[in-house]
Amino acid sequence: MTGVALEERLRITEIFLSLQGETTFAGLPTVFVRLTGCPLRCGYCDTAYAFSGGEIRGIAEIVDAVSEYAVRHVTVTGGEPLAQPGALSLMERLCDRGHAVSLETSGAMDVSGVDPRVAKILDIKTPGSGEVGRNRWENLAHCGRGDQVKFVICSRSDYDWAKLKCDELRLGERFGEVLFSPSAPEVEPRALAEWIIADRLPVRFQLQLHKVLWGSEPGR
Ligand code: SF4
Repeated sequence: MTGVALEERLRITEIFLSLQGETTFAGLPTVFVRLTGCPLRCGYCDTAYAFSGGEIRGIAEIVDAVSEYAVRHVTVTGGEPLAQPGALSLMERLCDRGHAVSLETSGAMDVSGVDPRVAKILDIKTPGSGEVGRNRWENLAHCGRGDQVKFVICSRSDYDWAKLKCDELRLGERFGEVLFSPSAPEVEPRALAEWIIADRLPVRFQLQLHKVLWGSEPGR
């Protein structure tokens, strides 16, 4: 792969077919392209195996590999996909190929260059993640109704913080969906569900469907 421009290649941990486990796309057969590397270290990270290693592949080859699955939905994930410059071109070409593309990003990298056809799933890192200082708040100006913002809640104080951010930043009005996920084992799913109900908070509670089905197995 030497001689191929940086924008034309990517370090990839895995490409696999599964069901989307989160967001409003949950339950849909989806091809995942997991890019290697992430500059963050969230305390609850479940994809640390994607921090290093991987295989360098050309973007054209990756797009062909995805299309071979003959599935419409594709999620570009990581690690942090936007840490590699070629990720923008990959998403554009997947859209050109007719795929419905979503991007899972930490919220710490600039999303302004992401193809507008891509549904961005933007994390807002809570204090409990250990990475709250990495939130790039200006990213919110580059997201809209086609995008979703996600909080992983690690404690009751994380929940109160996230609730405040939803209100201060009018997240529910500006974006397609606001997602609240419990971080296991710190927060019982039922406790988070009850907090949301008690506050009548207009957010979507979610569990990671793929973990209910397959546990923490990589590639599922
Ligand atoms: S941003 Fe995502 S991949 Fe990176 S450390 Fe946090 S949870 Fe893990």
